[in-house]
Amino acid sequence: MKRVAVYPGSFDPLTNGHLDIIGRGAALFDELVVAVLQNTDKEPLFTVEERLRVLREVLRPLPNVRVDRFEGLLVDYVRSVGGRAIVRGLRAISDFEYEFQMALMNRHLCEDVETLFLMAAEAYSYLSSRLVKEVAKLGGSVHGLVPPPVEKLLAERYRSAAARKSKR
Ligand code: ADP
Repeated sequence: MKRVAVYPGSFDPLTNGHLDIIGRGAALFDELVVAVLQNTDKEPLFTVEERLRVLREVLRPLPNVRVDRFEGLLVDYVRSVGGRAIVRGLRAISDFEYEFQMALMNRHLCEDVETLFLMAAEAYSYLSSRLVKEVAKLGGSVHGLVPPPVEKLLAERYRSAAARKSKR
């Protein structure tokens, strides 16, 4: 039987920390589904379509990684793709509380889906999508922190935002 895991997240945008977790997860399972959450509460910088496009482009070299989107309960989605595990990344203690609650809630909802925590390389342990957006917005370099297509997309997004502002 094929062992399938799901790595869910916002990926707004994809960072090298996410990529590190994807590489580690893909080595453990027959198939890893990277699933973009369509979250109506959060105000994202990039649309789900933009995030899917970047993920597909960057993850093309990984044959057992598939990119998808989902909404609703994560455990329902995991079951719908025949998954047995949820992969999440842990950076620091600060991630723990939230991840712990989510993992236990998901177990409550579905006993046979296991949550697996993987740690990214130390170099990425301080890296978050939120921080990357903040740095890029203020004109700082995010080179080496995100894959090249994301770097390009961030530059375009903030350049056009700056241009709009200066026109006003
Ligand atoms: P979410 O909104 O679900 O937290 P994110 O895209 O921010 O979505 O993160 C998805 C998962 O990847 C989470 O488990 C998060 O802890 C993990 N993650 C994000 N950045 C890193 C990183 N630099 N190193 C390890 N794990 C990370």
